[in-house]
Amino acid sequence: MAVLETVPDPEIPVLTITDLGIVRGIAEDPPRVRISPTYTGCPATTAIEQSIREALDAAGFRDVYVERVLFPPWTTDWISERGRERLKAYGIAPPGVSATAECPQCGSTDTVEVSRFGATPCKAQWRCKSCLEPFERFKCH
Ligand SMILES: [Zn+2]
Repeated sequence: MAVLETVPDPEIPVLTITDLGIVRGIAEDPPRVRISPTYTGCPATTAIEQSIREALDAAGFRDVYVERVLFPPWTTDWISERGRERLKAYGIAPPGVSATAECPQCGSTDTVEVSRFGATPCKAQWRCKSCLEPFERFKCH
């Protein structure tokens, strides 16, 4: 787990894969790391698996393999509290159930969704009506 804690998310490098909650655990016989992809078909999944492989190899765990677990499916609820804080500090509003997002710049909730699609499929484009800054919000999933 200490090795996995150091593997960054390829799309949001301030987050580690453990912050994202995609590491489901470690299993034995055979030794393996169990991970759940975030969004189905997310192109980052292959990159994440590659990063885990490299981190494990570098730490001497060459005989540990990476197993992809699809059920139960990953949800944004699995993002850790530390992960949510890091997203906000990075300028991305964490996922939430409310219809409004809190502006990561000024904290205002007077915000509006501009587009369902941001720079990556997992984020939506928002704009703050108080400070007028655009920002991204991690989509609830
Ligand atoms: Zn603002």
